[in-house]
Amino acid sequence: MKITEVKTFLMHVGAPSLKSWASDGSFGTQTYSGNLTGTRNWLFVKVYTDEGVVGIGECSGWPRVIETAVQDLKALLIGEDPQHIERLWQKMQIAIMGHGMTGTVGAGAMTGIDMALWDIKGKVLGVPVWSLLGGQVRSQVRMYAHASTPETALALKARGVTALKCGGVSDPVRKIAALREAVGDDIDLMIDLHGPPWLTPADAATLARELEPYKLLFMEDPIAPDNLDGYRRIRDASNIPLAAGERMTTIFGLRQLIEEELVDVVQPDTGRAGGITQMKKIAAMAEAHHIMMAPHSGSLGPVAEYAALHLLAAIPNTLFLERIEDDWEGRAHTALPALTQENGFLKVPDGPGLGVDIDEDFVARFPSQANVSIPVSKASGSYVDGSFEEHVYVQTRMKRAHYFPKG
Ligand SMILES: [Mg+2]
Repeated sequence: MKITEVKTFLMHVGAPSLKSWASDGSFGTQTYSGNLTGTRNWLFVKVYTDEGVVGIGECSGWPRVIETAVQDLKALLIGEDPQHIERLWQKMQIAIMGHGMTGTVGAGAMTGIDMALWDIKGKVLGVPVWSLLGGQVRSQVRMYAHASTPETALALKARGVTALKCGGVSDPVRKIAALREAVGDDIDLMIDLHGPPWLTPADAATLARELEPYKLLFMEDPIAPDNLDGYRRIRDASNIPLAAGERMTTIFGLRQLIEEELVDVVQPDTGRAGGITQMKKIAAMAEAHHIMMAPHSGSLGPVAEYAALHLLAAIPNTLFLERIEDDWEGRAHTALPALTQENGFLKVPDGPGLGVDIDEDFVARFPSQANVSIPVSKASGSYVDGSFEEHVYVQTRMKRAHYFPKG
């Protein structure tokens, strides 16, 4: 069997309709033609073979740029046997190592291609990808949704969701206190500080201690993700589980976070961490340190979500999968069959390969219009005064007293 062609399918994607998550500016606030809000893109990859088997994958790092990276890598793949997945992963890594080893563009491109190769192997053998990964530990995967207000949290609880994450950039302790009061102790709560550089490790540790009474499942990205020494300081100073890793890729990028046990939960993104090949290895590294996997899904499209379910079905240390509830309505038309949560779980697909395909005509109706967000500002209400207006990455928190509730 030989690879004969690699094609990319790039599309613009609207922001989620539910404002509990999008209101923090995560998806951008600009509006584009076709009434699409935000700057999310999805990039799908198809790998074609001389035997008519076609594999599909997705890249969610910086899709508009990754499209070019995938097209560059195509030259390495044509004529190769797609069933030798590890060999092709290594070939791609060596080919692009001069461009940087652990970035989301290179890893994102390899992710989509790798995912498509696993899809091909499953289709050739007539088995789901989870079977290739060792079989099922579970037939359904728990998911979590996003809520920043008690109203949203209660609505999601009524829909069966059992774990909720709050975006915590502004007034995090009050928000969590209100959520815990509303949903009770049976719902798992988490907070995401989005890895801002404006919290010092000392302030993040203070915040962690103030959040301790609410028994969060984890505090995510309390400081900038590159500040691993800072994670150690927060860990030593507080008793709250930590989570991080959504912007890191491959075993090499996540190694220190895991080996030094700086977190309790790692969150590599199934759409950009280096493919199913890397996610399985990252999960094994984490397992050896009793660290759970909760893959990131902030930009994840519907094909990568399928890949995540196959992986999370097969590894022991699955915590749950992030899912954007009430995402852009086009999600259900982009990849078929569409996934729906039931009682807080997603059923693991059982078709050969990944068991999913895209509607190419639908994808073509939404050409990419932009893929980077204008930094949010005070006007958006998303960030505390003085912390982001200057648009510099290195920050010291000002007006600190506003961040911590009195009494
Ligand atoms: Mg996050």
